Amino acid sequence: MSSQYLNDDLSALDYVQKDYLRGLQLERLRKMVQHAYDHVELFNSRMKERNLVPADVKSLGDIAKLPFMVKADLRDTYPFGLFAVPMSEVVRLHASSGTTGKPIVVGYTRSDLEVWMEVVKRAFASCGLTRDDVIQVSYGYGLFTGGLGAHYGAEALGATVVPTSGGNTQRQIMLMRDFGTTAVCCTPSYFNFMIEQALAQGIDMRDLPIKAGIFGAEPWTEEMRKRIEAASGIKAYDIYGLSEIIGPGVAIECGCQQGMHVFEDHFYPEIINPETGEVLPDGETGELVLTTLSKYAMPMIRYRTRDITKIIAEPCECGRTIRRIARISSRSDDMFIIRGVNVFPSQIETAILSVDGTMPHYNIILYTENGLDNIEVDVEINEELFSDKVRSMEALQHRLTSAIEGLIGLRVRVKLVALNTIQRSEGKARRVIDHRER
Ligand code: ADP
Ligand code: ZN
Repeated sequence: MSSQYLNDDLSALDYVQKDYLRGLQLERLRKMVQHAYDHVELFNSRMKERNLVPADVKSLGDIAKLPFMVKADLRDTYPFGLFAVPMSEVVRLHASSGTTGKPIVVGYTRSDLEVWMEVVKRAFASCGLTRDDVIQVSYGYGLFTGGLGAHYGAEALGATVVPTSGGNTQRQIMLMRDFGTTAVCCTPSYFNFMIEQALAQGIDMRDLPIKAGIFGAEPWTEEMRKRIEAASGIKAYDIYGLSEIIGPGVAIECGCQQGMHVFEDHFYPEIINPETGEVLPDGETGELVLTTLSKYAMPMIRYRTRDITKIIAEPCECGRTIRRIARISSRSDDMFIIRGVNVFPSQIETAILSVDGTMPHYNIILYTENGLDNIEVDVEINEELFSDKVRSMEALQHRLTSAIEGLIGLRVRVKLVALNTIQRSEGKARRVIDHRER
């Protein structure tokens, strides 16, 4: 399987010898640490507090000595405090949505943009896409990294890019059909909405040339993948990235769909115990920490992503030697605690979609009653079921309740709602609504 790419310079770095890769990573890491030490005040002072100098990084293992960076560092230094080059070298700015307060700002030099383009191009190649594909980019264009990130990578691949951005869904479907789109990039929740809108226009996606979806920017589950693949006839690939590190293109699945290969020649991954900060061995689950090895405008060293996963070091059947990370089950800040129990929205999604008759549209509502915190899950169900006899609705509600309670170990209130009751998302879905009293 691997041979088709082995001599292709496009993805050659996905297949390099491990020793060569480790050597390259160390060389780049040392350069990056020196660069940050010389130009980023916050990093410099944290190194000094620990009596460290860049020369102390002698092996890759020495990375564990270096201080972490966290999201608050970006907010505290808003807007450009972590930039390590003069503004005259910064050719692009992006900002992440930032649900509270100020957004976080990231900058790129010309060469940073080239790295980004390269990894996204390798990401598309990893999903089997080539210059013969028509890639519709339905991630939002603008300050969000999704749209432009996917756009330039697809262009670099030589594919035909259709830059629709998000929204205007009816038109997206029309263009998808008329232009013969073969791959779509967007959030998995938005693609679900597209499937629905297509059907409303009398179009079954399974009849269109589209064969691949590159989905990311929000957590989603294997159950969601099954639903999407069955409803649209495409192969749904998981892509991971975050603005702080570069944007989309940090990691992506290959045809095996068994974890996402990290482009570790540019982004060095570690997994830590989020409580102690201790580095965990490959295979253990914890918080993903990433270090940029080749990004100069805003080097990120040991950035704590808050995303929970594990590193898969075993060789992949595709032949790529770069390591994988498991699907991001959740970000730690999406987790909520109800009566002392940690609950991840992805557990609830898994339970909902394991029951026949449910639709992939749901909300999780947290509320307080008689001083106690509770969970209500509103789930859309298909039309036939909704207009069906009360008894089958009750049976479904019962099945759903026990599926969810079985997975999270807490009592929940399940409400079945009619189609189109839950708000659709054109970008990142917001599924948890918190009405708890504080
Ligand atoms: P924001 O923090 O405002 O959402 P970003 O757009 O940079 O800004 O989002 C990056 C975050 O999105 C990641 O840290 C991660 O939590 C989430 N994310 C991105 N891709 C995936 C994915 N494939 N699976 C799960 N979560 C993802
Ligand atoms: Zn693989």
